[in-house]
Amino acid sequence: MGLFTKGDVARVKRHLPEVLESYGVELERHGFHIRVARCPLHIHEDNPPSFVVHLRKGTFYCFGCSSRGSAVDVVMARENATFAAAVLLLRERFPPHRAAGTASVRSMERVRDEKAANR
Ligand SMILES: [Zn+2]
Repeated sequence: MGLFTKGDVARVKRHLPEVLESYGVELERHGFHIRVARCPLHIHEDNPPSFVVHLRKGTFYCFGCSSRGSAVDVVMARENATFAAAVLLLRERFPPHRAAGTASVRSMERVRDEKAANR
């Protein structure tokens, strides 16, 4: 069991869409920052989809079962993991200092987050 920083937590939370897609969740575009999907956390009727993802905040809220959270909460629920185990799983999947992303906005965010983490 390794250690992780607040910066790791902030970073892995930005991967919410990829985490959801890895669980077979189909995200439907609903404006620039919003994606809508069928709830992957609890078994309930979900048509029309009630699971709303906010891309910029890296958070979700389900109007069907009132669950809310981040990529970490999705992994905790789906893997039956503790917070720490979920963060470590995500950090393994999305390691720090991997090859630079495509958009310049992304690298700027990364620099800003790293500064914040080192504070
Ligand atoms: Zn739900």
